[in-house]
Amino acid sequence: MLENVMRIFRETDRVHRSGTPEELETAEYLKKECEALGVPARIEAFRVAMAEMDEAEVIANGETIPCRGFFCCGSGEVTAPLYYMPALDKVSLAGAKGKIVLLDTQGVGFFGYQDLMDAGAVGLLFRYGNMYYPHEDIDERDLREAVVGEKQRVLCAMLHTSQAARLVRMGEPVVTIRIRQREYDGESHNVVAELPGERDEFLTLTAHYDSTALSHGSYDNMSGCAGLLGVMEKLRGQRLNYGLRFVFCGSEERGLLGSKAYVAAHEDELAKTALNINLDMIGSLLGKFIACVSAEEKLAHYIGYMGAELGFAVAPRVGVYSSDSTPFADKGVPALSFARLASETFAPIHCRYDTPAVLDEGRLLRDIDFIAEFTRRMACAAVCPVSRELPEKVKTELDEYLARKRKPEA
Ligand SMILES: [Zn+2]
Repeated sequence: MLENVMRIFRETDRVHRSGTPEELETAEYLKKECEALGVPARIEAFRVAMAEMDEAEVIANGETIPCRGFFCCGSGEVTAPLYYMPALDKVSLAGAKGKIVLLDTQGVGFFGYQDLMDAGAVGLLFRYGNMYYPHEDIDERDLREAVVGEKQRVLCAMLHTSQAARLVRMGEPVVTIRIRQREYDGESHNVVAELPGERDEFLTLTAHYDSTALSHGSYDNMSGCAGLLGVMEKLRGQRLNYGLRFVFCGSEERGLLGSKAYVAAHEDELAKTALNINLDMIGSLLGKFIACVSAEEKLAHYIGYMGAELGFAVAPRVGVYSSDSTPFADKGVPALSFARLASETFAPIHCRYDTPAVLDEGRLLRDIDFIAEFTRRMACAAVCPVSRELPEKVKTELDEYLARKRKPEA
């Protein structure tokens, strides 16, 4: 695997979005890669809301505007004046009653959606894409169940930024959103593989393998999957004190659905899970390596010291990361995410520009070396030293990230 690691990216170089046959094929591919390393793997299915879009139309002052309807926002038609709302503050919300609201974002969180419904918005438009890029791709999103909560669903569609700007320039055009879709319960999958240890406890290593609708997902996040396979190859056959459980997660891009399904299905094993190590985007040619630790601060210090010892630059911090480490931390398992973060001007994600071209083999191998060495030290520890007590800062960030508490207004 590692002597030809770039092969993984060539062989998965296509869209593999949550709940689709292409996602399942990628899961099966990763299962085979584990087996090729002599490590048995299994596929665990979980439910995801899915939809097939038959029709999605946005019309402004009689003119058809290119759009993508949101999956799982329902079917029907709504007509109302447009209201452009670049912020979700109280003053802006006061103008949303009876309007189709155009937001300045690609989506909306739980509290934003609740506020918009309370304010009486009757439809939502979002915007995607850079005004000046040569392609006018429009991303496909879904209205998440976790965002809707107990509220009603309203029709939602994504516009390209250039079209959103045109709509705003029209003043307050009368807008119609028309969507017809067939919604159904689909399946997504986690791939689980294991290296045994002496103790009846283990570390869980995670990386999501799903992509978004426009992306081939090389950097985000086949690179993390290659990282897991690399760690597996380096540590298989070694005598480990703690076992290693590798989980390749599906449907991360739709709200960490794979890791949430994993911690729910394996609740009885979480007490035996000493640490979660998550990889989300590594190996980019440009960019800096970070560790976001959702655990005691000592672990962040340890990672910084280890980097200094090995001559590997790493920026550790304590906090919550928007990736599959978060459901583990939320269940009381100390967790961290490793990432090499490249700027958007070099390696934009969730778009057609996320391809193998942003990765570098040497960089990827050095990142994997560091992650494997950290994993080895933790797995070979006499006792995993990381406390299961989370700092208050992490608890607060978890409450905010998982929408149990509102973030105080800045
Ligand atoms: Zn990702």
